Amino acid sequence: MNIRRLLGLDTRADRYAYAVDSAAGYTSARRIPDRWVATTCGYCSVGCGMFIGVKDGRAVGVRGNPDHPVNAGVLCPKGLSEHETIQAGTRSTRPLFRRSRAAAFARISWADATRTMAEKFRDVQRRHGPDSVGVVSTGQLVTEEFYTLGKLAQLGIGTRNYDGNTTLCMSTAVSGYKRSFGSDGPPGAYEDLERADVILLIGANIADNHPILWQRLDANPSKTLIVVDPRVTKTAMLADVHLPVKPRSDLALVNGIIHILIDSDLIDHAYIDEHTDGFDTLYESVREYTPDRVADITGLPVELIYRTASLYGNAKAAFIGWTMGVNHSSKGTETVNAINNLALITGNIGRCGAAPFSITGQCNAMGTREAGFTSSLPGYRKFEEPADREALATIWGVAVERVPTSRGLAYPDIIEAALEKKIRALWIIATNPVVSFPNYGVLKQALETLEFLVVQDGFETPTAAMAHLVLPAAIWGEKEGTYTNSERRVSKVNKAVEPPGEARADFQIFLDLAGALGCRDELFPGWTSPADAFEEWKRVSAGRLCDYSAMTYDEIEANGGMQWGGARLYTDGQFQTENGKARLLPTKWEPFPEPPNAQFPFVLNTGRTVEHWHTRTKTGTVPILERLSPRPWLEMNPRDGRALGLKPTERVDVISRRGVIRNLDLRLTETVGSGQVFVPFHWAEANANQATQSIVDPISREPNYKQSAVRVERSR
Ligand code: SF4
Repeated sequence: MNIRRLLGLDTRADRYAYAVDSAAGYTSARRIPDRWVATTCGYCSVGCGMFIGVKDGRAVGVRGNPDHPVNAGVLCPKGLSEHETIQAGTRSTRPLFRRSRAAAFARISWADATRTMAEKFRDVQRRHGPDSVGVVSTGQLVTEEFYTLGKLAQLGIGTRNYDGNTTLCMSTAVSGYKRSFGSDGPPGAYEDLERADVILLIGANIADNHPILWQRLDANPSKTLIVVDPRVTKTAMLADVHLPVKPRSDLALVNGIIHILIDSDLIDHAYIDEHTDGFDTLYESVREYTPDRVADITGLPVELIYRTASLYGNAKAAFIGWTMGVNHSSKGTETVNAINNLALITGNIGRCGAAPFSITGQCNAMGTREAGFTSSLPGYRKFEEPADREALATIWGVAVERVPTSRGLAYPDIIEAALEKKIRALWIIATNPVVSFPNYGVLKQALETLEFLVVQDGFETPTAAMAHLVLPAAIWGEKEGTYTNSERRVSKVNKAVEPPGEARADFQIFLDLAGALGCRDELFPGWTSPADAFEEWKRVSAGRLCDYSAMTYDEIEANGGMQWGGARLYTDGQFQTENGKARLLPTKWEPFPEPPNAQFPFVLNTGRTVEHWHTRTKTGTVPILERLSPRPWLEMNPRDGRALGLKPTERVDVISRRGVIRNLDLRLTETVGSGQVFVPFHWAEANANQATQSIVDPISREPNYKQSAVRVERSR
């Protein structure tokens, strides 16, 4: 009996992955490479090691690196076809400029492009102040580029308003770690998935979104897998226990588990006494989360809540993983703190198999977090700490007054500031907010309000179509540097082929703009390659939690990546707080902000699918992925479909108070509960963010992408 097929897991994508998995590699057009270049996958944060096959200067194939510690040669469908993105017909290949949005784009030289950009930025700053220029970057660059860009934005351009699209996915995990442990940094390692005896996944469909991690988890023969998710995802189908919670009730569930564990004395008193502060306050705060109340909030039977608490509390090594189900919430940071509380009071941290662990999204979201300049100064230094600012000023050879004393606006606040004309010029790098940012109508209005919009990207995107200046960038496979994956493993990224047309590496574009601004010699003296940035970054990170000082490119390559902080953080129970103790923090469940009503009776959930990535700028150009998943869809419970008189083959629209997602293929399926619907967020032509809200987590500033109230109608 094929269990996977029975569960509906034997999808076309799975078959494709397994088929090519066993082959030597995936090559296109029967072209056999004449050399293979070792690198790291440029899609997700799992950080799989791979080789790019090159023939006649073109990338013609990809195969997994069998010696890489992350993936041992296995790749998912996206990784296996990644070389196809390099040859995409939608690549941005030459700088383009227009004076106004009413005008057509015209070609411009690189020298004129960077000179124009420098002049426009300086003009706007003269008229409206230094912070009237905003910079929004991404988790797609190499760490050397983030470090360079941060220096350029804050010391060269001189704006504090620099942030990245990582605020749309991981800032909640960052905030939660900082509040609980005194610093960012996922404490665990992928090996923990293979060694834990209980694994609790909350809002994390890793079978679709981090497939190689799923394979590592699946290889653990003695695990009990508990999945908390309102949807019956692929991951939930394979769980030992699935908790189909009501949307956004996870925080109440975790507090309820803590309540039961304290009452049952299934907690680690020695660990709490030696390594944490705040137990009494936590104890008081969870008193109200009685099993009956939690059952009411979550919709789960009381027995299931007790069983989950018992499984977790009696585990020798318990692992908690989470992704966007937790982070995409206005209560996300508190939920992360509740997860950390649960791990801390049971001593499930800093040991093999035991960790609270955020599974990151983009290939180098971690690199942005380390290299800083957004929510921290580089090397997890604090803006408000004078000694941290002094240390950086000394390394950089600049007056300490030039180092910012507080963070600038976060990404959603930059967009809000653009709408209010506080930000007048914006530089967007390797991200596509027209599809990825919540509440499309507001975003569009904000971008249209700008005096000057620069979009730097490897692809022609809907966001670039709104720009005044378009800068064509090299992408994965065309440049060098390092990525850090979710387990803090720094891996090498290598150049296999030249970028198309006049496209340049982001690193080169940053140096060129620094030259046009007149700050290149001061900030980047003698720099010509990412290796120069890496050497300075090693000095900046020395002695910090994310210490790169002992790493070299050669050693990183030889080891299949190197984890900063060792395999696990906090093995000695010492945290990055003033007294070395972790903080147990009270958290409070609240209903989500936009409850359904008679006019908008469904709760909209958004998410990903295994074949596609973000806004499909890359995967939408790969024929095999497009064939596997060509159309956007809506998942609806059959009972709701019957009540609305809808049939499975129909096209439907999703309407919220803010906009309409049009022409979705209707899928009637029991994987979503009655009263809920699900839409993947990848498609520009059926933009899920037409319907989502502008509400953000007050601590992390991460948007509440989920739980929008909507109605569903047959498309006209
Ligand atoms: Fe790339 Fe992530 Fe797939 Fe690995 S799991 S091949 S890193 S997309």
